[in-house]
Amino acid sequence: MPDDRTPRAREKHGFATRAVHAGAAPDPTTGARATPIHQTTAYVFEDADHAASLFNLQTFGYIYSRLTNPTVAVLEERLANLEGGRGAVCASSGHAAQLLAFFSLLEPGDRFVASRNLYGGSITQFMHAFRKFGWGVDFADPSDPANFEAAIGPKTKAIFCEVLANPGGVIVDLEPVAAIAAKHKIPLIVDNTLATPFLCRPFDWGADIVVHSTTKFLSGHGNAMGGAVIESGRFDWFASGKFPSMTEPDPAYHGLKFAETFGDFGFSMKTRAVGLRDLGPTMAPLNAFLTITGIETLHLRMAAHVANAQAVAEFLAAHPKVAWVSYAGLKSSPYHALAKKYLPKGPGAVFTFGVKGGYEAGVKLVETVELFSHLANVGDTRSLIIHPASTTHRQLTEEQRARAGAGPEVIRLSVGIESADDLIRDLGAALDAA
Ligand SMILES: *Cc1c(COP(=O)(O)O)cnc(C)c1O
Repeated sequence: MPDDRTPRAREKHGFATRAVHAGAAPDPTTGARATPIHQTTAYVFEDADHAASLFNLQTFGYIYSRLTNPTVAVLEERLANLEGGRGAVCASSGHAAQLLAFFSLLEPGDRFVASRNLYGGSITQFMHAFRKFGWGVDFADPSDPANFEAAIGPKTKAIFCEVLANPGGVIVDLEPVAAIAAKHKIPLIVDNTLATPFLCRPFDWGADIVVHSTTKFLSGHGNAMGGAVIESGRFDWFASGKFPSMTEPDPAYHGLKFAETFGDFGFSMKTRAVGLRDLGPTMAPLNAFLTITGIETLHLRMAAHVANAQAVAEFLAAHPKVAWVSYAGLKSSPYHALAKKYLPKGPGAVFTFGVKGGYEAGVKLVETVELFSHLANVGDTRSLIIHPASTTHRQLTEEQRARAGAGPEVIRLSVGIESADDLIRDLGAALDAA
């Protein structure tokens, strides 16, 4: 719980130290050094007054694991710390985190502007599922920040983008986009899944809220679903005046105003006390434990992922059966300069390339590789491959697919941490066969 959170103060420690330690301490009763998996649904109250103050949100503590759990709380504090944020709320998946973030912000009839270069599932969630909440989305081409501003209307309540976009190797110029959001007094929400706080910290560039699918590089081993919503603590809800759910009395909590009572972690409290309470997409304690363990090697893994991705991208760029490679680590990429600015340690390990021969050649390639696993995920220690047009992006129209960087010839890789030479040999053999 965020009563004693001072992430800024603890940032005197280096990233690797914080990845290993932030939010965790030896268990006070047993001395257990690893964070225990608190596999419990509920927590005993000290007495009736304690119970009442917990329910009134007057005391921080544990009531019921839909809202709070000690294992999940360690992960929440670690993520807030690594992102340089004020508070975090974990969720059962990245999509649940996105739902929770918007649930705390939007009223029926509200809209938000989103980059059109997003994870395919996010485009579907925003266009179809969110409509049932009465929320509308307007997509903008992120290659020019001005496009975000042009899409803003009177009902627009947020801007959403992936700083490093899935799948296409596109990087959004965060600083001017954050300035546009600030000018319109609406929060900039950044999905930082593919970069992770090791490669990029959106709060340093003016973002107000960061969301994650912790399923990917944060947990890192392809074994735990999860998501997180993290707030910078800097957005001024009262000055904006556009967010009644933050600034108006909440009838379910005796008229408390979240932004007033909880100040710079009011958004996290709202997201937990109302979003998690009423929608219920809670992260499981076991998944929190696996993700905490994964994050302890985040800095080592991301450095290896990025080095391998660069080597594989350079190999593909020189291969005669490859039409193009969209990796911002290549000098030929139109996003190379933005990568140097926002992701100086490397532009991640997920990127696309075009195979000559279109749809058929793409399908053949994913069926021929041996070391790369053909599946719909990214951010695993293992190298992964997929043909988006026939899988993740098949629900979209042909035009949407093209716009999202998922045309018929496109192959997406998530480069793992195996030996780079082996990955290159595997892809080379499959390209020769395709
Ligand atoms: C996977 C992913 C999501 C969705 O996360 P889930 O954990 O699968 O729900 C959202 N954004 C990005 C960039 C992703 O890669």
